[in-house]
Amino acid sequence: MTPSRIGPYVILDKIGSGGMGSVYLGKHAETGQVAAVKMLPASLAHEEGFVERFAREVDAMRKLDNPHIVRLFDSGMDGDIYYYSMEYVAGETLMTRLRRDRRLPWQTAVEYAIQICRALKAAHDAGIIHRDLKPSNLLIGNDGIVKLTDFGVAQVFASGRLTVTGGIIGTAEFMSPEQGEGKRVTRQSDLYSLGAVLYVMVTGQPPFAGTTAIDVIRKHRYNQFDRPRLIVTDLPGWLEEIICQLLEKDPEKRFPNAFVVQRRLEQLVRKVELSQSEDGDEIDGNENQADPSLAPTLLAPGKHASGPGPATLMKELVKAELRALDQPHWLSSLFNHTLVQVALLLLVIAGGVWWFRPRTPAPEAQFAAGVALLEQPPGSGWLRARDEYFEPLVNADPEQWQDRVAPYLTKIETYELTRTRPQLKPPAKDAPKSEPERLLKLAVHCQQIGDTGRATQILTALREILAGDAEHVKVYDAAGQVLEELRDPQRDANRRDPFLDATLDRADKLAASGQKEEACRIWQGMIALYATDPAAAAAVERARAALKAE
Ligand code: ADP
Ligand code: MG
Repeated sequence: MTPSRIGPYVILDKIGSGGMGSVYLGKHAETGQVAAVKMLPASLAHEEGFVERFAREVDAMRKLDNPHIVRLFDSGMDGDIYYYSMEYVAGETLMTRLRRDRRLPWQTAVEYAIQICRALKAAHDAGIIHRDLKPSNLLIGNDGIVKLTDFGVAQVFASGRLTVTGGIIGTAEFMSPEQGEGKRVTRQSDLYSLGAVLYVMVTGQPPFAGTTAIDVIRKHRYNQFDRPRLIVTDLPGWLEEIICQLLEKDPEKRFPNAFVVQRRLEQLVRKVELSQSEDGDEIDGNENQADPSLAPTLLAPGKHASGPGPATLMKELVKAELRALDQPHWLSSLFNHTLVQVALLLLVIAGGVWWFRPRTPAPEAQFAAGVALLEQPPGSGWLRARDEYFEPLVNADPEQWQDRVAPYLTKIETYELTRTRPQLKPPAKDAPKSEPERLLKLAVHCQQIGDTGRATQILTALREILAGDAEHVKVYDAAGQVLEELRDPQRDANRRDPFLDATLDRADKLAASGQKEEACRIWQGMIALYATDPAAAAAVERARAALKAE
């Protein structure tokens, strides 16, 4: 039943409901501010310490001010109902989007992940861990901006009666192994969830699925998921690597923080762009992906309806925990053994002593060492400067170092990208097997970089010299096909370049001011460059006419 009013909010509509209550669209009776109002079940408010915990958490969340985090407005009690109000995001949740489209083009997934990283970075910097990062907590606004909601809410519930082990909350499919185990939850736990969200965005299925929450939790702990490229074959390998690293079972092996993930994702986009400009068939969006309907998915509408919803998950979790209390895992009985505990303690102490042995130079010295390496000519020293000095500095204290280090990182990144260029595709696989093949590749390359004229010229000549040559029929046919593509009038229309007109205008001005020789050189240059390019026919015509007139 939809209430007509909650606290100061007049309720206009019900937006949805989840594991922890219902969400309504409301309007503040006095200020007129529109808000999403979340009402929590009355039973929660009776839980010991809940109200205090809630108030504390809401206070922390109110401080989060980031375009990718849903703003928290207010919180309060209405009778025995606890509510909080937040920015209303017109759009849909990632969950809804995935139910409809099943999966997203990887470019979109990366774009969303970058925005999620920004949200996580801001929250982590403020000391808040999300703990429940999942598709239904990601709101995609109609403007395409992704906002993360329910920040830190899970925290409020985390230490309650519901969770005997003190940490289990969230949705099993997106929950890190350590969280499932009830261990300490850290920023890296959110990164794991981000990995799971990225995984479901690009493949259409979560890394692990199961019939019960405990089943899924166990898989997060012990099983290996299918590598994303087994499901979506044309995913960039770089993206797969990032996803797999985010989904490392050991939090230490994941990325050090959200900012580093964000940078890696941004780098990935540039790397793919670069490799595409070199080689059009390397990775080509998502059009030719495997049929998405073949992907088994937890998010398929039918299946989801019968699968465990968040509320059921909670129940399952509680049940599972109680069950776990009855039947201790063989590992936990081992760890309960005093001797084993003493041995572990000694190990931890030894590890700590080793870890904190004096070795890292002071930050300023570290920075100076990095800068010194960058003064050397580009080479492996630059990469070392990044890995050993700059990135550790940013990881240790992003606030202080991010801005100082950023220009150096960009420089190193540019170097790395250009350096690895020839390696983007293994030469053995790519090497032309014959001279005609080499010419065909050259033409295709010209086509890809927009030099339609040169491509046409090479292909036409190639067709002429290969006509009747039985040995190279394949190249002959392929050349014909590319020529067909080049003749597509739509393509020509798309290739009009303002540069041509601007250059001709410049020549006209030079001629008008008496600098005829310079103008003629431009016209001749234009003809030399574009005579064979049908897309530039008009410009070439103009240059010819002008030359004639002089
Ligand atoms: P859950 O996150 O478990 O799905 P919630 O109670 O947090 O459950 O949210 C229920 C639904 O309400 C969401 O799936 C979403 O559709 C909607 N919703 C939540 N917060 C907002 C918001 N700030 N703006 C718009 N819609 C929201
Ligand atoms: Mg939510």
